[in-house]
Amino acid sequence: MIDKKKQLLELLKIHFNYGSFRPGQEKAIDSILAGLNTITVLPTGGGKSMIFQLPSLVLEGVTLVVSPLIALMKDQVDSLDRVGIPATFINSSISLQELNERLDKIRKSYYRLVYIAPERFYNQSFVNELKKIKISLFAIDEAHCISQWGHDFRPSYIRLKEAIKLCGSPTVVALTATATPEVREDIARQLGFKDYELVISGFARPNLQLAAVVTSNNRKMDYILDAINSQPGASGIVYVGTRSKVDEIVEYLSDNGVSAVSYHAGIDSDSRGWVQEQFMQGKAQVVVATNAFGLGINKKDIRFVIHHDLPGTLEAYYQEAGRAGRDGLTSYCILFYSPSDRYLQEFFISGDNPSPSMIKEVYQYLLDAHAARAENENSILITYAEIGKRLSESAPDMAIGTVVKILEKEGYVSRPNERTTNSYIQLLCSWEELLNGISSRAKVQLAIAEKLKEKYEEKMLQGWQFSLEEVAIVLHVKKDVLNRAIKKLAEQELVTYRPPFKGTEIRILKIVDPEDLSLDFKALEIKAEHARGKLNEMESYVYSNTCRQQYILKYFGEHDAKTCGCCDNCLKKERMPTKNYLGDY
Ligand code: ADP
Repeated sequence: MIDKKKQLLELLKIHFNYGSFRPGQEKAIDSILAGLNTITVLPTGGGKSMIFQLPSLVLEGVTLVVSPLIALMKDQVDSLDRVGIPATFINSSISLQELNERLDKIRKSYYRLVYIAPERFYNQSFVNELKKIKISLFAIDEAHCISQWGHDFRPSYIRLKEAIKLCGSPTVVALTATATPEVREDIARQLGFKDYELVISGFARPNLQLAAVVTSNNRKMDYILDAINSQPGASGIVYVGTRSKVDEIVEYLSDNGVSAVSYHAGIDSDSRGWVQEQFMQGKAQVVVATNAFGLGINKKDIRFVIHHDLPGTLEAYYQEAGRAGRDGLTSYCILFYSPSDRYLQEFFISGDNPSPSMIKEVYQYLLDAHAARAENENSILITYAEIGKRLSESAPDMAIGTVVKILEKEGYVSRPNERTTNSYIQLLCSWEELLNGISSRAKVQLAIAEKLKEKYEEKMLQGWQFSLEEVAIVLHVKKDVLNRAIKKLAEQELVTYRPPFKGTEIRILKIVDPEDLSLDFKALEIKAEHARGKLNEMESYVYSNTCRQQYILKYFGEHDAKTCGCCDNCLKKERMPTKNYLGDY
């Protein structure tokens, strides 16, 4: 045993010039060398590749590495070459001649590692070749792609169980950075593992001080302000459940002397870029955002992440909270929770999981609109809000959007485009009456009306379809200023105005009785149940009174996690660096 360990460390030094293993690597390698099927979950950058590369050097046969990342295979093989480990790859980028040459060398045991794309297992002649080779280790990179629960499901991964058998049932190691229990269990099930060794490591963030505070909704803003002021000038993110609340909090913080900017999916891409820049450069201290903010944000010195509302899952929470303290310095993550937060998340879940009766009703509505469409149109242009209002129980846009996606996935409808129609405007009086009708105090309105007269005098008299963007450019005014001014004119009944209409183009592909829609309603129900289960788990975290870091890691499956010693529960009534956000609330 000691010799084996010594040998592995020597190989690590000789080939890679590393002096020790990273957390989890040794345990996973030991498990593989003991011939056990192994699921390894390490964060990105945790050193997963080493877990199959090192064993490949001591195992007798070849190590097959299945990876969906075709573009990276060449780089991986090149870097193995550089450290003296013979490796190759087989994917769609190589010619037939090259393929045959490589297969020949594989048969002659020239390579330690062979990287392949999962689609290869659909190719019978390739499979026949594989049967002739001794494969000792079957490594599956990005193994979450096999799970329907993951974001990255790849149908080609479904064949892997069969492929493992075809390869003579060698030891299997599945590697991923996705640490959710159901993805992990799905990987084991899909690969047909009866027993397996689970190695999860490296998800602890010892510099994060986690806390959860149960309070009422109307006290949250004050607490957030207190928490921010406890570290003057420190950068942070406040996550909020809805767009309208984002603006409210920004206003409140700004009124109280905190430089805050807002970010959510509703703001245009220019403003998003500006917000990110303000935050990255430290010009804005705080970003108040929905969960649309964060991916690709590489700011290391975020000192706090505060949640105003309960996220839907513990994974989402840990991912968002984990944006704090990337520089390794102490940072805090506070989750404010009031029991009514659950309603918002339940609203999201029902929006994401419409009932069978709603699906049928929306489909019927689309069929009616299709039947009533103009003769020369083969699709209908509609907004989700319009559909939502017509149902027996009104439904939010999000739910209608989900229904349309479900119908689209099963081939009943298609959505060729999002389309915006032009605005329409017509004067209801003469220009003179219009200009006289505007109060002299409404300077902006008057200036815009004068400019409109100068450029579009005739058109507006006759009634005119126009694009707000274009006219704003011609008049040198901001689009929303122009829009507001025109709306004011319409309110005073000086013009008729129809704002631009942004709708979705829907084409009916199959007409059936809504009762005969062939959809997997059971699967939809299971998905909704699953989402509710995740929400329950998120809520349990709030109420738990054990170490929060350990709680999260256990949830992910890292069972030997140590207590952090610095979360609210570990410190109990001791003071935390932020102003008493423990006991006093
Ligand atoms: P992952 O696939 O988990 O994202 P990689 O396998 O790409 O991570 O490894 C990330 C980096 O860590 C690589 O540069 C790798 O060489 C390095 N690395 C792996 N194992 C060790 C180790 N034991 N000591 C130091 N660095 C390591």
